[in-house]
Amino acid sequence: INLTVGQPNFPIPNLIKKAAIKAINNNLNSYVQTTGIKELKDAVSNKLLKKNKIKAKPEDIIITSAVSGGLSIALDALIDPNDEVIIFDPFFVAYLQVIRLKNGKPIVVKTNPDYTINYEDLNSKISKKTKAIIINSPNNPTGKVYSEKELRKLAQIAKKNKITIISDEIYEDFVYDSEHFSVGSIYNNTISLFGFSKSHSMTGWRVGYMTGPKEIIQECVKSQQFNFVCSPTPFQYAAVEALKIDMSKYIKDFKKKRDFVYSELKDYYEIIKPEGAFYMFIKSPYNTDEFIQDCIKNKLLVVPGKTFSKKNTHFRISFSNEMDVLKRGVEVLKELSNKN
Ligand code: PLP
Repeated sequence: INLTVGQPNFPIPNLIKKAAIKAINNNLNSYVQTTGIKELKDAVSNKLLKKNKIKAKPEDIIITSAVSGGLSIALDALIDPNDEVIIFDPFFVAYLQVIRLKNGKPIVVKTNPDYTINYEDLNSKISKKTKAIIINSPNNPTGKVYSEKELRKLAQIAKKNKITIISDEIYEDFVYDSEHFSVGSIYNNTISLFGFSKSHSMTGWRVGYMTGPKEIIQECVKSQQFNFVCSPTPFQYAAVEALKIDMSKYIKDFKKKRDFVYSELKDYYEIIKPEGAFYMFIKSPYNTDEFIQDCIKNKLLVVPGKTFSKKNTHFRISFSNEMDVLKRGVEVLKELSNKN
């Protein structure tokens, strides 16, 4: 019973697959402009305005090698050795490692027990060396969706301290109870990162996009040129098709799964109900390492909290799974909760 899965469990819709195959057969397989094909940048510019209320001209958009690629070139543009980048605990594990890879210093800021931003800790950790704050909403691993109010407050703090916000919005479509809000719509000094990996299940195709202040984007282009050259060409054509497709039925299905798992486990575990993404970050009923071992003994795989946090008090499950797997997973978890 594998509840560690970090990608959607639905296949790429056929129309998108067909668009990729068509591009390949039409010999659209060569290098393209580093910043991406015009068709996709135009479509992304429209999408950003409509869905995210971000005004970005096609020339201020880069089609990236998914969000990982976007994050990497954003940090290349923003930080010099020993510059500090703030991340919130719990965090997506790559943030910590990529900041280190770029010779930056990750500064970990606490969140409150409900995963809202702890502004006191944030303010105390901002220094002259702070270049960026990474925020991820909806969040991996907690499923937290940051409200407009919280993001406005974060933007105020960033503005006061002249800090760039890097907003990772890869799960923007997976929002179940509210509306997704993009901080880039109210704070110009934001690098907004988006992608097709989760929204369209295109994890292996490596297509994403970013926008932000012109002078930063220009520097990101240089890094993209010398690192990735371009995002895979035929899949950029497929992404144009992806933006036309209504994915809401998949989101509805994920909401059902969220509701099922949460209602089954809420009386057995301490869980903050996730409002987005497809994860739950659950308090371990006893020592997390022992608990993980007990899960394995019961053929259940979950991710230990220390992967995402300085603490090891929680574990992450993914509800991106077939219902029968979720049902079996929930049964094992219920049993283990009673162990102590
Ligand atoms: N950001 C977050 C929060 C993620 O969870 C992931 C993947 O799990 C990524 C970025 C990387 O995604 P991509 O496939 O777009 O590189």
